[in-house]
Amino acid sequence: MSLKDKVVVIMGASSGIGAATGSLLAQRGAKLSLAARRLDRLTEIKQGNPEAEIEVFQADVTKKKDVQAVIDGTVAAFGRVDVIFNNAGIMPVNNLDQVAHDEWQQMLDINVKGVLNGIAAALPVMKQQKSGHVITTSSVLGYEVLLGYAAYSGTKYAVRAIMEGLRQEEHANNIKTTIIAPGSVKTELFNSINNEAVKSGLENAMKQPGSEMFALDAEEIAQAVAFVIDTPANMAVNEMVIRPTQQE
Ligand code: NDP
Repeated sequence: MSLKDKVVVIMGASSGIGAATGSLLAQRGAKLSLAARRLDRLTEIKQGNPEAEIEVFQADVTKKKDVQAVIDGTVAAFGRVDVIFNNAGIMPVNNLDQVAHDEWQQMLDINVKGVLNGIAAALPVMKQQKSGHVITTSSVLGYEVLLGYAAYSGTKYAVRAIMEGLRQEEHANNIKTTIIAPGSVKTELFNSINNEAVKSGLENAMKQPGSEMFALDAEEIAQAVAFVIDTPANMAVNEMVIRPTQQE
């Protein structure tokens, strides 16, 4: 089955990588369910792609009933779920000595529990179909720890572990798994940074070739996601690390 016929659910589709992926897959003829908390943004993507079959869902990935409703709504609309892209995430950067309990809780709930909620909702459908593809956005910070990113990195290492476990459990059931691990990408992710000094420092670094944060466009990550979805049935790209060429 080519990308054109696939039913793809994107969690965290309202901006950045998720929105760019939604638009690209819509142009390539996939049937889409777009989910996030900002329904107005999802509706804009749907209106911007009038030729495409798109369902939109207001959903908070930390709430399992919201995520279940996205999967149930997708099956009701399109009859199957070929791909779930667990992409929702936040990155409130802070050193651990800031004891940011609320940020930690929110980040664990969205970046880790949100991924588990997506897997839990989609897996029964995929197992029944005897095919499926779970794609999850980790990060280069799921492979290395940068000063100041300990808690965020922890969530992204966790996501890699969960996805490798899923691969071991479900590959025999014809379910593909892919970890997408971007380096720096120009998106709204920095809006979740509450520490203003950290935020402005990072925003400047994103524009400097050779810096740790020199950034790609979200559309470039979307191309990578489209590529892994469009692979032949017998081929799974399990991990893809994508850095800007000049990122440190
Ligand atoms: P954005 O902030 O642009 O996008 C984040 C998306 O996550 C939005 O659609 C947002 O939607 C959604 N989201 C956040 N919280 C929730 C929630 N509780 N329920 C549902 N959706 C939620 O940033 P990016 O596109 O950069 O982020 C996408 C992923 O990429 C994240 O997992 C991030 O960690 C990862 N990443 C990003 C990198 C970068 O440099 N930008 C690098 C490496 C990884 P809404 O607020 O409407 O709910």
